[in-house]
Amino acid sequence: LREQLLTIVEVPSVTQDGVSLTLAANISSLKELEAALSNGAEGVGLFRTEFLYMDRNRFPSEEEQFEVYRSVAQKLNGESLIIRTLDIGGDKQLDYYELPEEENPFLGFRAIRFSLERKDLFKTQLRAILRASYYGDVQIMYPLITSVDEIREANEVLAEAKRELTEEGIAHRSDIKAGIMVEVPAAVAIADLLAEEVSFFSIGTNDLIQFTLAVDRMNEQISHMYEPYHPAILRMIRTVTNAAKAQGIPVSICGEIAGDVNALPIWLGLGIEELSLSAQAILPVKESMLRTRASDSRKLLEEMFRCKTAGEVRALANQFHAEAA
Ligand code: PEP
Ligand code: MG
Repeated sequence: LREQLLTIVEVPSVTQDGVSLTLAANISSLKELEAALSNGAEGVGLFRTEFLYMDRNRFPSEEEQFEVYRSVAQKLNGESLIIRTLDIGGDKQLDYYELPEEENPFLGFRAIRFSLERKDLFKTQLRAILRASYYGDVQIMYPLITSVDEIREANEVLAEAKRELTEEGIAHRSDIKAGIMVEVPAAVAIADLLAEEVSFFSIGTNDLIQFTLAVDRMNEQISHMYEPYHPAILRMIRTVTNAAKAQGIPVSICGEIAGDVNALPIWLGLGIEELSLSAQAILPVKESMLRTRASDSRKLLEEMFRCKTAGEVRALANQFHAEAA
């Protein structure tokens, strides 16, 4: 089966009726980039930079980060690279930096909140990303955004980093795109407002499901309640997609659910144009795409929106996939 899949590495990801969906990769290291490329990834939709910070006993310098970001950008040969700024906290800790003990770490001091508190560290990372942007189509993504204020505050630090680099005569792209992860229900509710402030949305379903359903993504006792096909989740993704389209900005899905072949008609039905997946999920999803019609997906999605339970949605998704096989 794996060998069969490898025959479609170079085949464009287009449905039977000619709708294309970019299949980019989620990576957290140069090694994962290799795996992504050998699976035919069309760019990187989510570079999780945490591991660069977790892999050592101190914060990585601008130079260390720049080297890694530039290498990834160069290996992508002009395809886009979305670098997410540090998403530390929650389940991801640093040995060398004591984060406060928290009752609810996922609701705590993490991600963009950490960066906006430690602007020195944030600016170092932004400078490294800006410098790498000279070597490819590099874009910036802020995690865990809950308000317009956070975007503006982050963009101020970005503007300052650009000013510094310009003054120092260091090459970078001053028109770099900055987008956000939509992964908190508040961000969904104000998606129309956020869309006016950013260049793109990427929906982080891992956190969005956790926060929407109030189900800790790490808690095994309630893992059966962690339900990507919950009608609430479908509606949230639709809201975000519509807000992005109204504003004319791209929207992609970068949570684990993007790699579920059964979920494919949801993205096609909504008219989403990009998924970002773990390397091993790229070819199975592409294989599914090649057998699917976007027009059938749209009809299926209408039916899904009439379902009242996750079980009903899931059953429709499974049946659709089985019939296309
Ligand atoms: C997400 O929350 O869906 C996501 C892609 O980010 P992470 O899993 O790193 O929190
Ligand atoms: Mg997340």
